[in-house]
Amino acid sequence: MHTLTQNLTSLLNLFLQSHCPLCQRSTSQEFCNNCTKQLQKCQRQDPVSQWQEPLPVFSWGEYGGVVKRAIAAMKYENQPQIARPLGQWLGEAWLLNSPRRDSQPIVVPIPLHASKQKQRKYNQAALIGQSFCQITGLKLKRNGLTRVRQTEAQFGLSVSQREQNLKTAFAVSQEFRYSHPNVPVLLVDDIYTTGATARSAVQTLREYGIVVLGLVAVATTVKDGSIKN
Ligand SMILES: [Zn+2]
Repeated sequence: MHTLTQNLTSLLNLFLQSHCPLCQRSTSQEFCNNCTKQLQKCQRQDPVSQWQEPLPVFSWGEYGGVVKRAIAAMKYENQPQIARPLGQWLGEAWLLNSPRRDSQPIVVPIPLHASKQKQRKYNQAALIGQSFCQITGLKLKRNGLTRVRQTEAQFGLSVSQREQNLKTAFAVSQEFRYSHPNVPVLLVDDIYTTGATARSAVQTLREYGIVVLGLVAVATTVKDGSIKN
């Protein structure tokens, strides 16, 4: 108990001394109040506007501006704590607007290749998934999928070249192979852009007969014209 209190105190001190990763103001939260407000303005009014086959996508916000900046800081500036509020907001949106209330899917993060994860030291999609599951009460399967091949940079490739590039990028985990999940999978990622990565992950899961409900992402590039103001 004593150690727990000490740990909590040191964690608290860490936050008390921290600076907002977006504007450098000091803050006791992951973002300062001002940046939190700016971020929340990017929340979609209609998070299910892309919830349609072949790959239903549920997203909290629109990718751009301050959201883009926050996601970049999380991934490239060693700010993994940013995943917590983003996952929380995504989870709260899912609780309010879930298109599939009847289903209790298992949440699987889009994995990074091992070498990239080693370099970054964390997978932001798994951290978002963790926070998302704390809010929604859904179960997280951190290693449901693994990335088996380092994909070439997607930049400059045509759509079909991208698909080819990602075709064998993922594998289903040993655990899923031996113990087939009896509920559908809900994928989670930080952003959804062309969808090539997500489609490849879905294809891999479906090859094993695993049902994929859809994907939840903090942000997508699609403009729905219904951003909250
Ligand atoms: Zn700030």
